[in-house]
Amino acid sequence: MGAVAAPSAIQYSAAGKLSSINRIKASASPSNIRTSARSSTLSVSADLLSFSGLVAGNKGKRVFPNLFHAEKDLVASVFSDQASNSYGKRASRGVVCMAKRSVGDLKEADLRGKKVFVRADLNVPLDDKLNITDDTRIRAAVPTIKYLIDNGAKVILSSHLGRPKGVTEKYRLTPLVPRLSELLGIKVQKADDSIGEAVKAKAAALPEGGVLLLENVRFYKEEEKNDPEHAKKLASVADLYVNDAFGTAHRAHASTEGVTKYLHPSVAGFLLQKELDYLDGAVRNPTHPFAAIVGGSKVSSKIGVIESLLEKCDLLFLGGGMIFTFYKAQGLSVGSSLVEEDKLELATRLMEKAKTKGVSLLLPTDVVVADKFAADANSKIVPASAIPDGWMGLDIGPESVEKFSSALDTTKTVIWNGPMGVFEFDKFAKGTEAIAKKLAELSGKGCTTIIGGGDSVAAVEKVGVADKMSHISTGGGASLELLEGKVLPGVAALDEA
Ligand code: ADP
Ligand code: MG
Repeated sequence: MGAVAAPSAIQYSAAGKLSSINRIKASASPSNIRTSARSSTLSVSADLLSFSGLVAGNKGKRVFPNLFHAEKDLVASVFSDQASNSYGKRASRGVVCMAKRSVGDLKEADLRGKKVFVRADLNVPLDDKLNITDDTRIRAAVPTIKYLIDNGAKVILSSHLGRPKGVTEKYRLTPLVPRLSELLGIKVQKADDSIGEAVKAKAAALPEGGVLLLENVRFYKEEEKNDPEHAKKLASVADLYVNDAFGTAHRAHASTEGVTKYLHPSVAGFLLQKELDYLDGAVRNPTHPFAAIVGGSKVSSKIGVIESLLEKCDLLFLGGGMIFTFYKAQGLSVGSSLVEEDKLELATRLMEKAKTKGVSLLLPTDVVVADKFAADANSKIVPASAIPDGWMGLDIGPESVEKFSSALDTTKTVIWNGPMGVFEFDKFAKGTEAIAKKLAELSGKGCTTIIGGGDSVAAVEKVGVADKMSHISTGGGASLELLEGKVLPGVAALDEA
């Protein structure tokens, strides 16, 4: 990347007179614009613009005309032929089922009277008095359990809670029983262990449609070691297995992976299935145009996600702390913003990869800078090319929000991971809020919107639009690993559909 060309490119775009854009616009027919691999845009390979959509060096790119609405629009998008073609063909929402057998495939004949080991993620936060402060995970587990009890199964329910070291009183699952009972409309029984004769006896005595909650499965260190003997003991009380614990599906533990060797069939619960449908299915086979928005603090923690999404998406928006590493890689001054000096080459490589793949990579054109990392810091909005010394970028600016929003208007599938700024401070939450609201609006228009990542989900919830999204992932680490294209052991172990 040329360190010299970048600043001028940004100044150009801010002034709205970048000659190569105008040249393309002048010759553009509204429907199908082809840029030659030898067109003048190629000469700007070293500036920001080349990563903002004028992807040069690929033959036969089609420019998406809707993005050329504003005179000074930096957001010029080039779609690969492949993307453009599939956009025309696929009209439905991009949700496809991953090829795992689902609990819904099991009918009353398969379930009545059967003891079903259900691994759920009931790892809810508790206060000092052991009151549940957020029951989201319990509620999320209910559809699978209800389906099983409605079909006459005997449910043996298992979960972890917290990070216990051996038997730890404050991590017993007992406080969950009243809420579970309330939500299921039955009296849930509780065992004081997860294996052993007492558990076996209680499980054997369960009526059809009954639920027995086992003790915290992580009270045994063998659980996380995926000890085969331990898995066998866990499995010995049941006939078949349902995994609904998406949040731990990226871990090969005895209750998530080991037990599948002893219980048949082993199937996905409804929650796990929904996570796979969206985070795997919709991302693997999206309705185009498909946009990925990646933010958060560090590029180093998102390399896998970006690399993987670059294989699939048409547009990639970057925000959060990682953008400063990209700016610096292009020779811009970034003040005291968060920069990963050892990732400058990586940033350059990712920009090159976007170019090669025909993905429009959009970086914010303005940022909100602060004089310190604090909620009450002084702040101002500056162009990305003019971050003053001693100031740090903590949010994307209003112009970037505008550009991102209008580019998002054309999309049919959006995956978002990583906040646009330090949303924990209200003053620097505007970019994240605006994007959250934009996605909520797009959802209402039939766009598939998927939110993954712990902080991203928290941000969307803070804005109050979580229920508007097509899918909010319940698993932080697991959703990231799935987005990175990794195989989750808890999923791989389940029966094929
Ligand atoms: P997720 O949990 O959704 O995967 P991350 O953990 O990667 O997201 O990133 C979230 C964190 O990134 C937040 O705590 C937020 O404050 C931080 N962050 C966002 N923008 C910036 C920035 N410009 N500078 C420093 N930190 C940032
Ligand atoms: Mg996080």
